[in-house]
Amino acid sequence: MKKLKNKSTENLLEIESKERLSSAKINKLSNEHQLLDTYLKSSIENNFSELLFRLTNEKFEETKANVLWESILTHKDKLNKKLKRDVGILVATLDYLTNITNEIISPKITKDQNIEIAAKMATTDPMTGLYSKMIFNISLETEIIKSIRYKRPLSLIILDIDNFKQVNDTYGHQAGDKVIIELAEIGTKCLRKADLFARYGGEEFAVIMPETNSEKAFIVSERIRKNVIKFLKIKNSIITVSIGISSLSTVINSSYELIKHADDALYKAKKEGKNCSRISST
Ligand code: GH3
Ligand code: MG
Ligand code: MG
Repeated sequence: MKKLKNKSTENLLEIESKERLSSAKINKLSNEHQLLDTYLKSSIENNFSELLFRLTNEKFEETKANVLWESILTHKDKLNKKLKRDVGILVATLDYLTNITNEIISPKITKDQNIEIAAKMATTDPMTGLYSKMIFNISLETEIIKSIRYKRPLSLIILDIDNFKQVNDTYGHQAGDKVIIELAEIGTKCLRKADLFARYGGEEFAVIMPETNSEKAFIVSERIRKNVIKFLKIKNSIITVSIGISSLSTVINSSYELIKHADDALYKAKKEGKNCSRISST
């Protein structure tokens, strides 16, 4: 059950994070061979799986997706001839996968846009628009597996606003909220598209950084910290953050270990006076 939930959440994340091929564009691809060829050449892998995912929000393995795509096109031609009009790729896909092969049971018709909104709501924290802790947890597992398989570096940053209780007590909860929102904006500007920035807890944030060793993660972490000092002010008070960094290694090789070591480094940053970044020792 948990695995199934993770899979659906991964699909939601993909709907939310990727630029979408609209149904109209896929319809064009299904009608024009040359356009389809260009599409197939432009992307590297899982082309047919991607096409079907964009139409159905279901993941099919690439070889199967290729076979299904061809069958759907044949089915579309048949429907067009019978009905003497173009039914479009979406209707042909729906009819084929629900009434002929039973791949999709009990589908719903809705606008593309509604699915994107639902996916965004299910994967992000409403206050900051950053990814939720659930997405963070699932993504961390996925990125660790990828990084170990391809022997690539991976780092994790955990960031905590310093003395935030005092900010709330002095300026009020709403002002505190504004600080959290602005911090999310500043952090986002310091990160790459490949990094996954999440709201980890109340005034705590986490960044998963693929292809990044601890030295590089430290540079990014310091960039965030310095930008916070520069831009995040409340009245005349400066806001600061403390940051803990951990990286994948032979010892730190699970989500539990990565989080634990980033947490330990954050604790060290707090103990050594706050407003600083620390790298985990192992
Ligand atoms: P430290 O420097 O050790 O991190 O101290 P701190 O005061 O930041 O840490 P502490 O854990 O004592 O307090 C965190 C505060 O963050 C308490 C909680 O009310 C506040 N907080 C958590 N989530 C939110 C939120 O969404 N909005 C606001 N305004 N405050 C929040
Ligand atoms: Mg905290
Ligand atoms: Mg704090």
